[in-house]
Amino acid sequence: MPAPASTSPFAFRHEPNATPVEANERAKRLIDPGFGRVFTDHMAMIRYSETEGWHDARITARAPLTIDPASSVLHYAQEIFEGMKAYRLADGGTALFRPEANARRFQDSARRLAMPELPEELFLESVERLVKADANWIPESDGGALYLRPFMFASEVFLGVKPSAEYLYMVLASSVGAYFKGGAPTVSIWVSQQYTRAALGGTGAAKCGGNYAASLLAQSEAIRNGCDQVVFLDAAERRWVEELGGMNIFFVFDDGSMATPALTGTILPGITRDSILTLARAQGIEVREEGYTIDQWRADAASGRLVEAFACGTAAVVTPIGTVASPEGRFTIGSGAPGTLTMRMRDALVSIQRGTAPDANNWLHHLAD
Ligand SMILES: *Cc1c(COP(=O)(O)O)cnc(C)c1O
Repeated sequence: MPAPASTSPFAFRHEPNATPVEANERAKRLIDPGFGRVFTDHMAMIRYSETEGWHDARITARAPLTIDPASSVLHYAQEIFEGMKAYRLADGGTALFRPEANARRFQDSARRLAMPELPEELFLESVERLVKADANWIPESDGGALYLRPFMFASEVFLGVKPSAEYLYMVLASSVGAYFKGGAPTVSIWVSQQYTRAALGGTGAAKCGGNYAASLLAQSEAIRNGCDQVVFLDAAERRWVEELGGMNIFFVFDDGSMATPALTGTILPGITRDSILTLARAQGIEVREEGYTIDQWRADAASGRLVEAFACGTAAVVTPIGTVASPEGRFTIGSGAPGTLTMRMRDALVSIQRGTAPDANNWLHHLAD
């Protein structure tokens, strides 16, 4: 029975799924879930309107939405999202990794897209409640996790161009396996010449669907050129390496130092990026946040000054980069195999996320049973 609606606008209503996926079938789906295809029994929803503010918060059965074709998101793309994971810990508990950082970034993205800012507590509560409702969907397999996808879109029925007066905030949960089975193979990346991802003053630092829409053609070009991923250069000078379509980038040098592009406004401030900066500095590694050009990258790879490069983000954690290709040719990073420091950073991060290493920075947000 659904609990009666509370009078508090922030009280969550729980409407348990009356026909959840059967245990046998769920177990089958969790064997090899891949990424982003297996969804849980529930979802979180909160509505916003200019007149009522945030209201109608609930955890409900996952189901299709019915929206008016004139909903403004379908025309002007006022949409933002987040990506985070809930992990099963070595001690059997469950924890989210730095969810407060996702909550704050969601507010930053909302501001840039002229959307209302969801209070941090409400963001956290929606995610926590959903993870608790669907905890049996966290894969037990090595590297498995529950991927959480909070998102918000403009739902006002109006074709005029202006910030929407109504929004729908939702959270989906998706069981995911290890992004790369059997360790981390290196990826090859294509340097986009014709297309850029973000310009100064644009939305590059916001996590919005529009940035991804703009990156897809360049990503297809990468695939056509035999590469796995695309890396973008800055829009003004077309020489500063910025980031991949959905991952930040790090460089490792022969003196043991590391570098990553600074957050100049056109790069997405990754939480994995920030975690790696913190971990590396705590280990006494020198890390610079500074510009690095594609020409320097090519020259340093040739001279041996650059020994490793990797991409990072929530979904794949840390991904070694093996080769870099452009119309000017292809070059290899180090031996082309995963680098030592790359794998050390990856292990350090994964061990904290899994609760097998001390959590010195208090990054784990433990969920009570
Ligand atoms: C989400 C995202 C990242 C990685 O951010 P994390 O918080 O580490 O997952 C990097 N680049 C882009 C463009 C992104 O959308």
